[in-house]
Amino acid sequence: MLKDYYEILNVPQDASLAEIKQQYQRLLLIHHPDKQQQNQSQQSGPASTFLLIPLQDIKEAWECLREPARRDFYDSSLKAMKLRANGQVNDDIDLDDMDYDEDTCSYISPCRCSGEYVISEDELELGVDTVVCSTCSLIVRIHYEVANDDE
Ligand SMILES: [Zn+2]
Repeated sequence: MLKDYYEILNVPQDASLAEIKQQYQRLLLIHHPDKQQQNQSQQSGPASTFLLIPLQDIKEAWECLREPARRDFYDSSLKAMKLRANGQVNDDIDLDDMDYDEDTCSYISPCRCSGEYVISEDELELGVDTVVCSTCSLIVRIHYEVANDDE
């Protein structure tokens, strides 16, 4: 299960790198083990429960989101995971029926709107099989056979 780094850092998915960095540094301070004891001793009563985020998760989130290429890849994986979790699929298509684009190493299929479904080879290798249209909100599941070297 993929962690939601945006949720961990409490930033919107379209946050800029500067915003993410600022929030990361802020969280590091808040969730530093020394600070946590301070916060807990300063607060009293059940209403002020201090939400603990593991420092490791905060660092992991930053390490991923700070690199544009990793972030792009993470974004599409996260999106697909959420779609699967919600179970919203409007259509099914076969990978064989999609057009292959050599420049981007991606498979493309037109949507009934003027948009298109795009899935990259990297995503396929990760097991991603759900894609959202580039223009509308329709979602398709892509069927494909996993290449088997033994055959
Ligand atoms: Zn569409």
